[in-house]
Amino acid sequence: MNHYPNLLNPLELGFTTLKNRVLMGSMHTGLEDKARDFPRLAAYFAERAKGDVGLIVTGGFAPNIVGWLTPFGSTLMSRRQLPRHRLVTDAVHQHDGKICMQILHSGRYGYHPLVVSASDIKSPITPFKPRALSVKGVYRQIDAYVRCAKLAQQAGYDGVEVMGSEGYFINQFLVTRTNKRNDEFGGEYANRMRLPVEIVRRVRQACGENFIIIFRLSMLDLVPRGSNWDEVIQLGKAIEAAGASLINTGIGWHEARLPTILTTVPRAAYAEVTGRFRQHVNIPVIAVNRINTPEVAEQVLASGQADMVSMARPMLADPHFVAKAAAGTPQRINTCIACNQACLDHTFTKQTSSCLVNPQACYETLLTIEPTHQAKNIAVVGAGPAGLAAATTAAERGHQVTLFEANGEIGGQFNLAKRIPGKEEFHETIRYYRVKLDETGVDLKLNTRVDAASLEHFDEIILASGVTPRVLSIPGIDHHKVVDYMDCIYGNRSIGEKVAIIGAGGIGFDAAEYLLHAGHSTSLNPEDYFRYWGVDLDQRAGVENVKPNPGTPARQIWMLQRKTSRPGKSLGKTSGWVHRATLKMGKVKFLTGVDYRKIDDSGLHITIDQQDQLLDVDNVIICAGQLSVTELLEPLQASDKPVHVIGGAKLAAEIDAKRAIKQGTEIAAAL
Ligand code: FAD
Ligand code: NAP
Ligand code: SF4
Repeated sequence: MNHYPNLLNPLELGFTTLKNRVLMGSMHTGLEDKARDFPRLAAYFAERAKGDVGLIVTGGFAPNIVGWLTPFGSTLMSRRQLPRHRLVTDAVHQHDGKICMQILHSGRYGYHPLVVSASDIKSPITPFKPRALSVKGVYRQIDAYVRCAKLAQQAGYDGVEVMGSEGYFINQFLVTRTNKRNDEFGGEYANRMRLPVEIVRRVRQACGENFIIIFRLSMLDLVPRGSNWDEVIQLGKAIEAAGASLINTGIGWHEARLPTILTTVPRAAYAEVTGRFRQHVNIPVIAVNRINTPEVAEQVLASGQADMVSMARPMLADPHFVAKAAAGTPQRINTCIACNQACLDHTFTKQTSSCLVNPQACYETLLTIEPTHQAKNIAVVGAGPAGLAAATTAAERGHQVTLFEANGEIGGQFNLAKRIPGKEEFHETIRYYRVKLDETGVDLKLNTRVDAASLEHFDEIILASGVTPRVLSIPGIDHHKVVDYMDCIYGNRSIGEKVAIIGAGGIGFDAAEYLLHAGHSTSLNPEDYFRYWGVDLDQRAGVENVKPNPGTPARQIWMLQRKTSRPGKSLGKTSGWVHRATLKMGKVKFLTGVDYRKIDDSGLHITIDQQDQLLDVDNVIICAGQLSVTELLEPLQASDKPVHVIGGAKLAAEIDAKRAIKQGTEIAAAL
């Protein structure tokens, strides 16, 4: 039975038909930038085409050098570049897929000194002030778009996506925030929208009728002096008239001061915006942002909010998302948890993108999982992320695997993570592994804390026993006010209204959010999230005249660290600022350079800059890092069995699920 009649319904575009309503949205992976990486890029897209996605959009390619995102970054501007692109289009077409190339001109968002824009106004998030283009210069950019689209057509792409949102070049012409011109490309809105309309009109003219043109239109800028709703509609109608085949939704400029795709954003929170827009145009429109399950996608389509849904990161997490939904096995989908840790955080730190829950993403040719020629009897100790990845991968390859877990449930520390408001998605990873353990026939032994002796009959042992909270030696550490993060987050202890948190790393921040929100998550429904961050869909750009309303914090929290650096410095590049903003809105007080003296009935005694202070708190929560659990290591090594140590058990410092799952997968792929 088809549970997703709308999602799996083909979309007729006149000259071509898309096999379903799923668009794999554009993501820059880093593989686009170098010719030598195109075989990897082709394998990456081929896997998604094999998984039956309706239409793929590549990461952005600049139409010329001034449009670069980074120096020597991805471009399509000459015939010499065609052969490498043909690797990609051929690979996708071989699997009966369709692929469009995104044309991305960065404008002032480029990280290089050649940047150009509508006006010479520097962006708050990039270091280079752009040069304002002359009218002739603007027409040269339009010519570059047209050349780029024609080259894409020659390379075998089924179409192009013209990137007109997220604050890039085209967006910079549309709004008075960045466009101060008074010529034919500035001033009244009809002039400001001339650039995108002209690009679409001329690309259609150059590439003919049988070529997909998607225009990514910024429907909600989420920055002051962005477009208002009338302008958005006016642009949409003009883009349709200019010849676009599909309109994709853009939400928020990169410089917007609120999260738009992170796990703290409710699923499909912005589909309503696309729904409102859809009533005004006759071509299909695409909804975006935080659509990560077939159920949510189906609901967006069934409710008439869109004709198609874009999922970008979910296709990194599981290339076979669509095929699994179509087979009626959505529980087998490895769900994107919107953490950004291995995708966007990598992009912004110049590493190749991948996926926390799927380390094979973008490594399809390098990390392969093949059937084994020599089945072994393998024990895995610990069913945290590392052990789960190792056990299921080894079993998938044909090994006989027994997985021992001391607790009554799988997941390890992910069971704490999923309790943090805004991290509800982490449940999905545990669900995915539960299903996969079953499917691959892993023999799971819960409530079983193993010792070395009981592992004697196995051929090889994978030790994934994880981490345990570091116990501090501050005088008074045994005082009843002291609670470790596990007891705090599991709710094993009741916590007072005044709290000091020792440690300002990832877990300290999460513990603070848990205590601030007191069980109420603003990530579950759009109204709560919009109110919290100050979004009103009826206001210009969604944010003008609106203030965030985080409500009254449930507790007074002090967050402490010994270092004098900025608290939360170790948090993710694309998520750290959100956590810092949340805690700031919760009026959390940060203290750095702290020396902890003692804990007693009156609270936590500290010294900062040689000044003694007393924090009169009800509880002191210890989030001071962790230590590896390795008690089995020595006895196991004493036997002559091969022992592989992975995840937190191998190295506690900076352990996260990304490293744990990657190590688990890699070791099992090599056994
Ligand atoms: P663990 O998760 O510690 O699992 C080890 C398992 O081994 C445990 O289940 C334990 O019971 C079992 N075990 C130990 N000894 C034995 C034995 N002798 N016999 C049987 N079983 C045994 N990471 C991220 O990447 N992103 C996040 O957003 C994130 N958020 C977090 C939020 C919180 C509140 C916490 C606490 C952690 C968070 N983490 C996050 C960290 C992440 O969960 C850990 O890095 C990851 O779980 C480590 O995986 P692991 O498998 O190595 O160890
Ligand atoms: P962490 O990030 O290393 O932070 C540990 C904190 O404890 C630091 O603030 C440190 O600050 C303090 N500390 C360390 N030793 C101490 C001691 N002896 N006495 C007092 N304070 C001490 O580790 P974590 O917070 O436990 O997080 C563990 C891992 O989980 C992280 O590496 C992270 O990758 C992952 N995680 C990620 C997220 C996420 O959102 N991506 C969320 C949660 C967890 P000082 O040394 O300055 O005092
Ligand atoms: Fe999704 Fe996280 Fe994977 Fe990125 S790294 S695709 S956000 S699960």
